[in-house]
Amino acid sequence: MAPKILIMGPQGAGKGTQSQRIVEAYGVKHITTGGALRANKQRDISDLDLEYDTPGAYMEAGELVPDVVVDAIVEAALDEVDGFVLDGYPRNIDQAEALDEMTDIDVVLVLEVSRETSVKRLTGRRVDPETGENYHTEFDMPDDEAVRERLVQREDDTQEAVETRLDVFEEETAPAIDHYSDHEGYTTIDGEQSPDAVWADIDAAVERKVEGS
Ligand code: ADP
Ligand code: ADP
Repeated sequence: MAPKILIMGPQGAGKGTQSQRIVEAYGVKHITTGGALRANKQRDISDLDLEYDTPGAYMEAGELVPDVVVDAIVEAALDEVDGFVLDGYPRNIDQAEALDEMTDIDVVLVLEVSRETSVKRLTGRRVDPETGENYHTEFDMPDDEAVRERLVQREDDTQEAVETRLDVFEEETAPAIDHYSDHEGYTTIDGEQSPDAVWADIDAAVERKVEGS
């Protein structure tokens, strides 16, 4: 059966980068709440009577989009797939508890990097708007000149917005990671290594956890 994988860690830990490899190796779907929310930035959620009327307003402020919106997106996405790598969710304890009700997870990958590494990676991150693939000005530029020329920087990858998101990570998401510390599929991975070395550790962990179950 296709594995059900959670990938967690601070912004810039390499979740998106490694999720792409997981998709290729295991034939699972990549479910990313950040991506789903960016596609629904302007959606009218005023009927919910929350602080802001669109997901995009929360995202621009570097705040979490309310659970009621995100939980529904994840539940609908999980309904449509068998195996998956879930990236960007859960981000707080309540979301972790909501996910426990939705499905059973096989592997919980926790990518660990320092705050300094996160900031360096995010401020240099560039995205190909056509494929959604991530690159980095210093560590990973595409060979194809046409791709290089169309790369853009995400609006929330400025130094200030990055610092805010990392504060939210430490306050809200670190406890959600702890929620899984006793899970049998829980594995920490040294995310400071090169992308290939991180991938080797992830691949070995997934094989071990899935075979062991
Ligand atoms: P996340 O999804 O965890 O926020 P990304 O996968 O988008 O992180 O990676 C953030 C940035 O860091 C991207 O520009 C990516 O190219 C780069 N990156 C990812 N993994 C590594 C690594 N192991 N070493 C150096 N740079 C990396
Ligand atoms: P990052 O992890 O680098 O902040 P993402 O692309 O994962 O970026 O998410 C972008 C924005 O979308 C977040 O800053 C947040 O506002 C919102 N978001 C994504 N996932 C969630 C989630 N699980 N719960 C609440 N808000 C979310």
